[in-house]
Order: sequence, then C-alpha cells, then structure tokens
Amino acid sequence: MGSGQVTDWQGKNVTVAGLGVSGVPAAKVLAGLGARVTVVNDGDDERARTQAAELEALGVTVRLGDGDTLPEGAELVVTAPGWKPDKPLFQAAGRAGVPVWGDVELAWRLRGPDAAPWLAVTGTNGKTTTVQMLAAILKAAGLRTAAVGNIGVSLLDAVLGEEKYDVLAVELSSYQLHWAPSLRAHSAAVLNLAPDHLDWHGSMEAYAADKGRVYEGNRVACVYNVADKATEDLVRAADVEEGCRAVGFTLGTPGPSQLGVVEGLLVDRAFVADRHKNAQELAEVSDVNPPAPHNIANALAAAALARAFGVPAAAVRDGLRSFTPDAHRIAHVADVDGVAYVDDSKATNTHATEASLASYESIVWIAGGLAKGATFDELVAGAAERLRGAVLIGADRALIRDALARHAPEVPVVDLDRTDTGAMLQAVQEARRLARPGDTVLLAPACASMDMFANYNQRGDAFAEAVRELGAR
Ligand code: ADP
Repeated sequence: MGSGQVTDWQGKNVTVAGLGVSGVPAAKVLAGLGARVTVVNDGDDERARTQAAELEALGVTVRLGDGDTLPEGAELVVTAPGWKPDKPLFQAAGRAGVPVWGDVELAWRLRGPDAAPWLAVTGTNGKTTTVQMLAAILKAAGLRTAAVGNIGVSLLDAVLGEEKYDVLAVELSSYQLHWAPSLRAHSAAVLNLAPDHLDWHGSMEAYAADKGRVYEGNRVACVYNVADKATEDLVRAADVEEGCRAVGFTLGTPGPSQLGVVEGLLVDRAFVADRHKNAQELAEVSDVNPPAPHNIANALAAAALARAFGVPAAAVRDGLRSFTPDAHRIAHVADVDGVAYVDDSKATNTHATEASLASYESIVWIAGGLAKGATFDELVAGAAERLRGAVLIGADRALIRDALARHAPEVPVVDLDRTDTGAMLQAVQEARRLARPGDTVLLAPACASMDMFANYNQRGDAFAEAVRELGAR
C-alpha cells in the first residue's frame, strides 16, 4: 500500500475501524471491490448489531465490543476520522507497519484516473460557509461541482457516484486531515487557527500541523489569512508543486498576490495579468450575505480558490449573490420594537463568538452552555464596549459571568439559573428588557449546547421560537 492509487483490492485484508457514518459505507465499498473486510467497533449496542448484521450479509466480518485489537493479517486500517490517534489499535498498526487511512484518504485513493480536482478548505471556523460559497461561485461559472466532505455529502459518494464533476469544493476537518497523508489538492485554504479540539490532537502544534497538511502538494495556490500569521507559516512549511503560489486574503487593501477590500469592493490582486500594477474588481461587499467582517473574509477565501481554478470575476459576484448561509449562522430572526434578534447558535467556541460580536455595534448578548475548557477573558475584554447587557444560560455560565465582572463591570448581567425548556424564552424576555431600539440581541453562546439542548440547531430553534412569541404579544 504505497502512496499511489490502489487498483487491485481483490483479497486485500482491510480492517475498518468504527461502524457509523463513514465506517459502514467504507466497509461496503471495500467489500464490493473484493477486499476481505473486518470491521472492529468499541460499542456493542443494538444499533451496532443491526449495522453488523447488514454488513455480515455482504460477507464482511464484524467484531463488536473490541475496537483496540488489530485483526491478524491486516494489511490496511481504514478509520473513522474521530478516532483518537493514541488509541491502542493505531499503536498496534504502527508496530506492524500497517498504514492507517481516514475516510478522506480512502476517497482520494479510490477516485478514478480522470477524477475532478479538489479545492480544499479547512480552519477553525467558517469552513462550511466558505465551501458553500465556493460551490456557489463554481456553479455560477457553469462548472459541475458540489460542496462535499465534512459537510453532509460524503467524499466517497462524490468520488464513486454516477454524477460527473469538473471540480469539488471540499471541507476538511483537522481529524480528516490527520488521517489523509497522500491527499494533494489543486489549491487549498486555511481560514484561521484558534485552539480547538486540543484534547484530540494533543497540542496546538499538532493541531496546526494537521491543518497544514491541506497545503501539501498543492498545485496552483495555497490561500492563507493575512490577519492570522499562523496560517501563512503553514504555507511556508508546506512542500508544494513547483510554481504553486501563496495567496493571502485580507479585509484591508490587498498587496500583490492578495485578495482584499478597497472602498466597498472585493478586489483581486493575485490572479490578474500584472499583479504589481493591476487589480480586478470581483464583487461589492454588499454582495456577501451577511456582510459581517468574518464572512467577508470567508468570501475572499472562496473567491481566491475559485480564481485559482480560473473562474472569471463575474462568476464570483453571481455566486456570492446567490449564496444563502445555513441556519443558525448569524441568521436574522426578526425585528421587534426596533431591536434586531440574531441567531448565531453555531458560535460554539470563543473564536466564532468573537467574530459574531465584532459584527454589531450595540449588543445584548445571550451566552453560555458547555465551555469545553475554554476561558472567556479575552473574548469579553475585546467586546466589552459593544455590550449593552448580557443574559447568561447553561452549565458553565459562571465562567462568563466572572469574565464580565473582571472586564466589563458596568455591563448589566442577568444570570439565569435554570436549564428547563422554558429557559430560552426567559432569556429572550430578559434580553428584550435590556435592549434599546437600534440594538441587536445576539445568541452567540461561545459554548456547546448539550447541557440544555440536543444540539446547536435545537438551541437556535428555541431562540427563534421565543423571539416569535415576543413579537406576537
Ligand atoms: P465551521 O464549518 O468551520 O464550523 P461555519 O461556517 O459553520 O464553520 O461557522 C461556524 C461558526 O463560526 C459560526 O458561528 C460563524 O458565525 C463563525 N464564523 C464563520 N466564519 C468565521 C471566520 N472566518 N472567523 C471566525 N468565525 C467565523
């Protein structure tokens, strides 16, 4: 199993680590190619048994309740991306010299000889939005494309399905990149780097290194964030194809080889004939939805990748205009009595929330939930002057309350000590009491939702429902 494409799977002994969203399809595909597949899985519950029965009918061996023992004779391990690298199974594979591939690596190796090139996006925040903008731009240019990867549509389906693509817009998580050693994108972007998932990667350095893998072997452009030096450092460290360029994006005036903003216009000074003298207008800032600073940065990154692929300027504009963000990402819910209510329930960490708070002038902030080890001092200190007030919910709200007391002592804070389903309605009512006309009530929790809700979607829905109740009164 070298680094090239594997064409003959007949009789190959492959271990698939983990049933689930990537494991089951991987096992099916590999069995279909003639490999001898054994799935190992930690859990042994009802769902696992149902999946196991389905796979066994296809000739796959399944071992439930032991995801740590490497099966005898394994030649390759294909793992679910979330499995931690320090798991005994991988140590055993390492000792035996057996390669470990993630779902992305498998898709990369199984793609056909004339497969569509990949434009890849990673980063701590903004991946989904950027990949969707990119796909919208590519479509506007008349290209056959799809937004795939860590985003709902599996890469395996995209690579092996009937549909033919000219190019793929691929969202990659740090986990997926960790397990994708031979992936080589046409061009790639790292949007930003803030501490996240450090318990999985072991350290910030390891996390950054895994993100940086997205640049390895790029052919045309490595797109980095001028405001986030760590992303540029990753470009420098990468081993790329001859002639591949480093292209920066910035909210300021772009230098040569950069995309940026000039007088309300998105401007390209990278993919133009003479970049030292010329610039190409791509779109207006108001074409970006919503035109919040971090989202303009996402649009510039998407535009850079599209331009690297040769897309004309007009398609960038048309694509951005046609793009609508997914739910719960700075979604305007309603105006009630001159106050805007905005749902950014997807802001589950401090980095995303920082961007969200930077998007409005005067804010009543609804925050709290599960902090996942985060600290809030920097976030609160940076936003203090924009805060009209704060309403805190959830398990770790005391951490945010203490940060507010330290860095924004004059900001009124309502601390809600309840976690029942009515808590969000009360939070919205308290926020309304604090808000004045022209303010924004912003749900940007900086925390995960699982202490009170099934997920961030449900949290955002509860917020929107509460706002509608306000408006109906
Ligand atoms: P991801 O797929 O990386 O989680 P999303 O596009 O789903 O990214 O956005 C996740 C959260 O991050 C949202 O709350 C959004 O407001 C915020 N966000 C989006 N883009 C950026 C960015 N460039 N910088 C910081 N935060 C961002």
